[in-house]
Amino acid sequence: KPVLAVVGRPNVGKSTLVNRILGRREAVVQDTPGVTRDRVSYDANWNGREFVVVDTGGWVSDAKGLAHQIAEQAELAIGAADAVLFVVDSQVGITDEDEAVVRVLRRSKKPVVLAANKVDDQRTEAEATSMWNLGLGQPWAISAIHGRGTGDLLDAVLEALPEAPQERYSEVGGPRRVAIVGKPNVGKSSLLNKLSGQQRAVVSDMSGTTVDPVDELCEVGGQMYRLIDTAGIRKRVKEASGHEYYASLRTQGAIERAEVCVVVIDASEPLTEQDLRILSNVEDTGKALVIAFNKWDLTDEERRKYLDREIERDLVAFRWAPTVNISALTGRNVDKLSKAVEEALAGWETRISTGKLNAFLGRVAAAHPHPLRGGKQPRILFGTQAQNCPPTFVLFTSGQLDQGYERFVERRLREDFGFTGSPVHVEVRARE
Ligand code: GDP
Repeated sequence: KPVLAVVGRPNVGKSTLVNRILGRREAVVQDTPGVTRDRVSYDANWNGREFVVVDTGGWVSDAKGLAHQIAEQAELAIGAADAVLFVVDSQVGITDEDEAVVRVLRRSKKPVVLAANKVDDQRTEAEATSMWNLGLGQPWAISAIHGRGTGDLLDAVLEALPEAPQERYSEVGGPRRVAIVGKPNVGKSSLLNKLSGQQRAVVSDMSGTTVDPVDELCEVGGQMYRLIDTAGIRKRVKEASGHEYYASLRTQGAIERAEVCVVVIDASEPLTEQDLRILSNVEDTGKALVIAFNKWDLTDEERRKYLDREIERDLVAFRWAPTVNISALTGRNVDKLSKAVEEALAGWETRISTGKLNAFLGRVAAAHPHPLRGGKQPRILFGTQAQNCPPTFVLFTSGQLDQGYERFVERRLREDFGFTGSPVHVEVRARE
């Protein structure tokens, strides 16, 4: 799905606008300094087209200077986006902070849609017109609170977003997009250095590869990859103020842009909620997944035994993901990452023919029919794989399936077809 970043200084109405786009009333978050959240991106849909909204409402203020901070925030969000919705306040007019964002936007060369917000009545319409002076093209006069003009704005947004975002995965023969993610201090930058260290000069000569300045091309195990947002890993965003927020924003952005995510976990320390959250995030975003247990050199036998128990207890839901035990410090098994990544990508791209799928569904139904429900027998009539990357199946049924049965079919799909390293989505369309 294409990604839209919503940027702008505090109190211009970003969150209100994001809620408007998502079609819900409650505030996601206030433009309150210090607010941090886990999720910064949301699925949106306008006129039947789906896209992801990255909300940058949760910025954090400190002594560094407002303009600087906002520019930094914008840069982070923009790096992850296909298009940018830049929100300004018509009632206030153009400020220095707005100008700072404009400079970042120009440099990024991403498509920008300009929303002149708080045009609640005719009188402020003229103020919106003055936003032409930002040099970003037509300002769309809107009122996020009242909904005025937001329909036209969203039409403009759809035009700015790439038509067929799937293309991102099919740059023919281009290197695969890999995101290295994980909570702070698990060894992401160490791993990156190990992977990319000596060969950067070589890879920049490769023809036909345009790379975002935040990405790097890199060879692992004889295979060329595009590592997503290496600038973010190298830049030590974690040391900046509001690090948690920035880190989660960057992580989310990197996951969205990647085809496959290597989630790095510190094997020498107990698993944490944050590790699990990042794993779930990869699954929810529908990307291929490899789990790298790092700092293996620091584990002793006792720790490894305990880790096995933790995996058994907390990572059962990710049993489908290939794992590699590595040490970014010594280089142990680092070259094995490429095999795991290839395996996960193969699972992610799997296509099952309609014939094979329905033969499978027939076998499952014969061996384990759905339990009777209100005297009736819910049945799977037909199934088809609607998509790959990740494999997504649509089952047409008579009567609703029980949750438990749906999960059972999912499990059997995996058992029969593998899908190693990939989330699998199953949708049920029930006919009563
Ligand atoms: P990041 O925040 O995920 O990028 O983590 P860093 O790469 O900055 O690593 C955090 C700390 O862990 C640093 O002190 C690294 O030297 C150390 N470290 C990273 N990988 C390993 C490893 O495989 N073994 C050991 N012993 N230390 C590691």
